[in-house]
Amino acid sequence: MTTNLGLSIIITLITLFISLTPTLTKSEEGIDVFLPITLNLTVLTDPFSISAASHDFGNITDESPGAVLCPSSPTEVARLLGFANGGFSYNGVSTIPEPTFKVAARGQGHSLRGQASAPGGIVVNMTCLAMAAKPAAVVVSADGTYADVAAGTMWVDVLKAAVERGVSPVTWTDYLYLSVGGTLSNAGIGGQTFRHGPQISNVHELDVITGKGKMMTCSPKLNPELFYGVLGGLGQFGIITRARIALGHAPTRVKWSRILYSDFSAFKRDQERLISMTNDLGVDFLEGQLMMSNGIVDTSFFPLSDQTRVASLVNDHRIIYVLEVAKYYDSTTLPIIGQVMDMLSRTLGFAPGFMFIQDVPYFDFLNRVRNEEEKLRSLGLWEVPHPWLNIFVPESRIQDFHDGVINGLLLNQTATAGVTLFYPTNRNKWNDRMSTMSPDEDVFYVIGLLQSAGGSQNWQELENLNDKIIQFCENSGIKIKEYLMHYIRKEDWVKHFGPKWDDFLRRKIMFDPKRLLSPGQDIFN
Ligand code: FAD
Repeated sequence: MTTNLGLSIIITLITLFISLTPTLTKSEEGIDVFLPITLNLTVLTDPFSISAASHDFGNITDESPGAVLCPSSPTEVARLLGFANGGFSYNGVSTIPEPTFKVAARGQGHSLRGQASAPGGIVVNMTCLAMAAKPAAVVVSADGTYADVAAGTMWVDVLKAAVERGVSPVTWTDYLYLSVGGTLSNAGIGGQTFRHGPQISNVHELDVITGKGKMMTCSPKLNPELFYGVLGGLGQFGIITRARIALGHAPTRVKWSRILYSDFSAFKRDQERLISMTNDLGVDFLEGQLMMSNGIVDTSFFPLSDQTRVASLVNDHRIIYVLEVAKYYDSTTLPIIGQVMDMLSRTLGFAPGFMFIQDVPYFDFLNRVRNEEEKLRSLGLWEVPHPWLNIFVPESRIQDFHDGVINGLLLNQTATAGVTLFYPTNRNKWNDRMSTMSPDEDVFYVIGLLQSAGGSQNWQELENLNDKIIQFCENSGIKIKEYLMHYIRKEDWVKHFGPKWDDFLRRKIMFDPKRLLSPGQDIFN
């Protein structure tokens, strides 16, 4: 718990300045909020608001802000950041001492290690901005090619608004109750990434309030340094208030398939072949999971009559590789569906008799993790510590990773709790000017060890396992990149960004020179 006397003084000052008249001046880069304005902000300091902003999905950290801002317009956020910059003056005379508090945007707080926290500072609740957005949080363009979205909006709400118009974003995270600003600050990856790239590759334009309190619109052509910096930028350069998201046609239904393999080489070969097929005859979604006999074998996807033989397959082989693919369709594309399903059943090298298909509405398919959440919540297993490890492994070393980490470390654990994701993706739709890091190979694997603590295991034990995995990769020369990572040592950040570190630092100096933004990432503290 952090207390901050400076902050309470600042809050008092915020109240004092209510009587000043607002004046915004236009500068070259945007609207300058440094000159005489009233702050006229209401910040929340009640225990409930503070507590809610202190925790996240990871359930490992507890970092109290001094206050929470629930803004009703982007200009309120700009005023706050202008004020936090210490540039508050009246008639050219500095009226208050330079404040020293930090500011973090918080979307849905689904970070794992306090990345959206602002210890002793101010957390900006982005949901408030989405709720106050005019005319609506999601506005689909007349031609249906893009949507302007308030960044605090959850992806599930973007989906709902878009499908009403017969359109949809093209690339998704597995879970939709994440904010647009939150996933764009990381990358936003999932089973459509091999075709369309991550979510950050499907944004046309952003409105951002920089760490200096300037409201700027950016795109590949307009203020590109800010645009590329913010995408995957871990909240370091500005607070995104609006994103223009690319849309495509929304199908109505999905053939959703889980296909079981006992042989890793066949699983790997088929996954990689399918992600190379990006024409109409390929699948629209591809992921993969591991089912291990030392974990909870969830057979609920499969027909009741097949669940016992699936469980036996896992017990017999100790590990089963689950290829998960989906093909979208509607009345216009119905003929292709038969061809694609036929291609899958004829050409893939899965365990004979272990291909299962469900036919579901598009919305239900994209929203599939919501059911898992509800199940886990009802068992009291959602709000537990989540020491997750997400890494990208270059394809050239995935066999070594599999042998050392999956066969070596994970299968030898007494028990595992949680899902292990294991699937390849193409790198050709990732843009190196953006801040997110990925391995330097055309194909890399997304590995998600999504473990939950609870029961007999505590999170430190699972964290030790994560450390061993990282150490194994280090010792074996496997050049992984962590995703959703949290480092506390500067050298780890410098190593993570590698050749991009100088650009990252330069952009920080350019857009947030006082290092106010997203302190919970621990990059510049
Ligand atoms: P928060 O936790 O609120 O914030 C994350 C970071 O972004 C913080 O540093 C915050 O300050 C900053 N930030 C938030 N909003 C803004 C903004 N508007 N402008 C600038 N900075 C901002 N990720 C994937 O890529 N693919 C997945 O399939 C996936 N599945 C997930 C499933 C679950 C159940 C969970 C818990 C997470 C999953 N994630 C996945 C990770 C998720 O994308 C990130 O944790 C993301 O940051 C969550 O969004 P949020 O709104 O909760 O962000």
